[in-house]
Amino acid sequence: YRQQLQQQNHSAGYSADRQRLEIAANITSVADAVAAFQAGAEGIGLFRTEMLFIGQDTPPNEETQYQIYRAVLQAADGKPVIIRTFDMGGDKPASYLTLPPELNPFLGLRGIRLYPHCESLFRSQLRALLRAACHGPLKVMLPMVSQPEELHWVRQRIDEEIAELRAAQQPYAVFALGMMLEIPAAALQLEAFCPQADFFSIGSNDLTQYLLAVDRNNPRVAHYYHYAHPALWLLLQQIVTQAHQHGRWIGLCGELGGDPRFLPLLLGLGLDEISLSARQISGHKSALLQLHAGRCRQLLRQVCDADSREQVLTLLAAAEVSEP
Ligand code: PEP
Ligand code: MG
Repeated sequence: YRQQLQQQNHSAGYSADRQRLEIAANITSVADAVAAFQAGAEGIGLFRTEMLFIGQDTPPNEETQYQIYRAVLQAADGKPVIIRTFDMGGDKPASYLTLPPELNPFLGLRGIRLYPHCESLFRSQLRALLRAACHGPLKVMLPMVSQPEELHWVRQRIDEEIAELRAAQQPYAVFALGMMLEIPAAALQLEAFCPQADFFSIGSNDLTQYLLAVDRNNPRVAHYYHYAHPALWLLLQQIVTQAHQHGRWIGLCGELGGDPRFLPLLLGLGLDEISLSARQISGHKSALLQLHAGRCRQLLRQVCDADSREQVLTLLAAAEVSEP
């Protein structure tokens, strides 16, 4: 039985009617990566690298970063790895970036918006990533993008760092560059990013927070923050359809990916991948195997037509989405 479980753990994610959905892991360290692959992760969908940068007096240097990214790629052993460039600011401040306090940090200088204010730090990460890319199929993604110019700015810096590495005869490899969809404006305007974005990943935590205008960490409004809001599914459906129309791979990370109640809807969306914590991987793969993707698509259509989150929850509770 244990062997059977082990086999199931390490099989690829499929629904009962053979729709593919890659089940990947969210990580913050090399140890997490090792544990994730032991738990049957098919890849890393989100490496939150800011965890290497916060909670200490100085940031990690290029060499330290390189060692870590390389170790994650080695643990992946050929499976895909998405590393997100550091996403500080908001709820994740760094002491050494002496930035003025903000009244609304979640609407302030966070994610990609921070990079021009600490450009040498960002460039050190780009160099470490370019060097690490020699060791496996690396994809890099950018947090909190709201305008195509931001991608252009990053691509320029990547080209400059490549020129530097080449001049120094340092080995490097080019990685796919993608972006998170976590600001509603970017999600609604996906097409405008396609010329510069190789892939997309939906950041369900922030996308929900910004779509519903609820601070995700404020307990007084926590009840407004809910994945059952029909507007979220309308937007998600539009995002996935558009991404695929433009031939782009699209995954989803953030807490929604690990919430079993919404797995039928995530399958119904037709995402390429969902990324969750290592301990949820096995359970999600088993649950996925029971689901019928055709019925899940039908359920998603009903959810998108619903008026309220109560209606959505009722639909989810009554849905017959398993293979008979
Ligand atoms: C998200 O917003 O869903 C996400 C994955 O990013 P973070 O939670 O790190 O802001
Ligand atoms: Mg986010």
